[in-house]
Amino acid sequence: MTGTDTAASAARDITRRNDRAFHDLRSWLTHLAATDRLAIAQPNTKLAFEIAGIANRLDGVKATLFPAPDGHAVPVVSGLTSSRAWMAESLGIEEAELLPRFQNAVIEPLAWKETADAPCQEVVHRDPDLTKILPIPTHNEHDSGAYITAGLTIARNPRTGVQNVAIHRLQVSGPNRLGALLLPRHTLSYFDAAAEAGDDLDVAIVVGTCPALLLASQAILPLDQDEMEVAGALLGSPVDVVKCLSSDVRVPATAEIVIEGRVLAKERAPEGPFGEFPQYYGPRADRHVIEVDVVTHRKDPIFHTIVGGGLEHLILGGIPREATILSSIQRNVPTVRDVHLPKGGTCRYHLYVQMEKRFEGSAKNAIMAAFAAHYDIKHVVVVDEDVNIFDPDEVEWAVATRFQADRDLVVIPHAQGSKLDPSTDDGVGAKMGLDATKPLDAEEMTFKRIRVPGQEEIDLDAVLDPGADVGAFVKLGQG
Ligand code: MN
Repeated sequence: MTGTDTAASAARDITRRNDRAFHDLRSWLTHLAATDRLAIAQPNTKLAFEIAGIANRLDGVKATLFPAPDGHAVPVVSGLTSSRAWMAESLGIEEAELLPRFQNAVIEPLAWKETADAPCQEVVHRDPDLTKILPIPTHNEHDSGAYITAGLTIARNPRTGVQNVAIHRLQVSGPNRLGALLLPRHTLSYFDAAAEAGDDLDVAIVVGTCPALLLASQAILPLDQDEMEVAGALLGSPVDVVKCLSSDVRVPATAEIVIEGRVLAKERAPEGPFGEFPQYYGPRADRHVIEVDVVTHRKDPIFHTIVGGGLEHLILGGIPREATILSSIQRNVPTVRDVHLPKGGTCRYHLYVQMEKRFEGSAKNAIMAAFAAHYDIKHVVVVDEDVNIFDPDEVEWAVATRFQADRDLVVIPHAQGSKLDPSTDDGVGAKMGLDATKPLDAEEMTFKRIRVPGQEEIDLDAVLDPGADVGAFVKLGQG
């Protein structure tokens, strides 16, 4: 069985409970600690910049736990899944299974189920002061202040009752007020439906869950497909949920912290600037306001924060996008094998596509399908199957040796792109595609990669002599 076959069959079998997956934050943290991937800071780390600085220094190497930040009783944790391998491990699967598993979880989601056992409501604060209850850090230099960055905002469609899960950046604007950036997607649709009827939109902000829920929250789904059901399919068992104390919103029962509140129908207030994934600041503007009614949490809660622009931020957004983009491109060009949104392209703007080219010109069709799959995609490189798209050096090599700009370049001016890309004109900009595949009619030897026969099979321990003295072979001072 090839690796791809194994991945596909494992991904198909999504209904079995996946006991190798981690179903809450605590079990995943404990696992990271047991495998020497959790650094613990000295007590009293400063909430302003110091947590983010330390987390950034360890980004991709270790997660970090900050006990008693600024003397606060609740610890902060960051960097839970700052690599693809860790994310796969948290789901109990191999890295190569990530995209097929996610693709299948979207096709065959698993409904959540109500439970009476709700650790997330062990402690209840009515009339809460967020700044006293939670240690909320300030990350980047010009951020407007403290932000909740790893909160899953859960809302119910006022018309259908279907829930939505998304991560919105949440500025702490007062003891019980948050400023929220709602991009034109599902939370905003639900809000508009409520506001039309003159109502506030009930929401719950959930902090501290398993990596699967964080990942599922970033799925690119149609309106009224619940991301929590995608999480259930990723985990191989339904997510246990409990009703909020002040609304009908259902939240994961084992969450660390739940902030219950309402997006106010009639109010807007300044929010931002805030350091975002492209390594630039999202601007300040009048945005939505959430009034907080109740905060509940576990007995000894842990506050999760995602540092804006860090690997955790990039990877969480990247993997679900890759899965969606791959499904979309494959509908048009079935011989596309894999896609990758590399870190250098902010896991959003650059896409590498690997395909088995069977028809001349089909790489250009793959480029066009990629642009159609998501408006954030700006530059696409298509390569053959012998190029590893997870290694940027390999992709650059393919561009260096298989691409001719007058023949293989596609440029589309004045298309919709990302508003957070500062080189665009308020989100309008050019798309560029590079076809770095070999021509089908090339002579076999022309594009044959050099290789040394037997190189990979050499046992270095067997062929090298660590005890040998260089002096026996290289004579100094005898010249
Ligand atoms: Mn949604």
